[in-house]
Amino acid sequence: MDVTVVGSVALDTVETPSGRIQDALGGAATFFALAASNYVPVHMVAVVGEDFPEEHLNLMKRRPINLEGLQRARGRTFRWSGRYHQDLNVRDTLDTQLNVFEHFHPELPPAARSAKYLFLGNIHPALQLEVFEQTGATFVGLDTMNIWIEGAPDTLKEVLRRVNAIIINDAELRQLTGEHNLIKGARQLQKLGPSIVVLKKGEHGCLLFAGHEVFSAPAYPMPEVVDPTGAGDSFAGGFMGYLAGHDMTDTATLRQAVIHGSVLASFTCERFGTERLAEIGPQDIAARYQAFRDLATF
Ligand code: AMP
Repeated sequence: MDVTVVGSVALDTVETPSGRIQDALGGAATFFALAASNYVPVHMVAVVGEDFPEEHLNLMKRRPINLEGLQRARGRTFRWSGRYHQDLNVRDTLDTQLNVFEHFHPELPPAARSAKYLFLGNIHPALQLEVFEQTGATFVGLDTMNIWIEGAPDTLKEVLRRVNAIIINDAELRQLTGEHNLIKGARQLQKLGPSIVVLKKGEHGCLLFAGHEVFSAPAYPMPEVVDPTGAGDSFAGGFMGYLAGHDMTDTATLRQAVIHGSVLASFTCERFGTERLAEIGPQDIAARYQAFRDLATF
């Protein structure tokens, strides 16, 4: 089964304690598509400007990523810049230049419309709603962020009513529900729409809430995190890609999918930007999956 992703494709400038990259390939849809394309064909719906390097398109074309829904608009590509602290859970956004993203409206080509699995990356909830008019997807995953929780809460709640799964971090969950206790918060969030809540807790792994079930997945112990940018989107790509690959969303498959999400996220953190994610294959994924098993079996 195919997956469609709608989100940002960006040129990122990132500083971490390990170094700096400038105008590197980034964006939520990019990380998602690179991760999910290890499992299934991905239809990418996004926009880039005239300055978007051909080599980045070629990198995606070498994988089962369909770029028919990638619009080429006049102007510059969306740019984002961030700096991480020594504590890599803390980052400052230094600059966001929307550029061609400012006038973006998702347009799903026929193949993207017919994908059964859809991931709505972190964009304005009004744009996420536009996607529902164009899709026949039966399983929809969602990402969002603080600016939409604060700036467009009612539209976001409308989106929430229509999705099956949300992938969210602890700060966003607290902000969205007003509940400090994360377990109560996740339960409240389920009542707003998504029966599946995946709560990301960075280096402490994640919790899956599916119906009444709770599953705790570890994070991979990494001696050096070079750049966590896109880890969340890579997680979402591994998670949704695994579900689509098996075309099942029962709790046993969801547990496996959470581990695959964690595997892909761990690869992304190993190098800057998409460097590591773009080079891994099935053997790397299988080896790290086994490492996760060993880590959590007792
Ligand atoms: P994450 O580390 O999972 O938060 O994802 C970081 C990616 O999201 C970067 O590659 C950015 O280009 C992209 N990004 C940052 N801010 C935004 C935004 N406001 N809208 C869409 N994408 C964004």
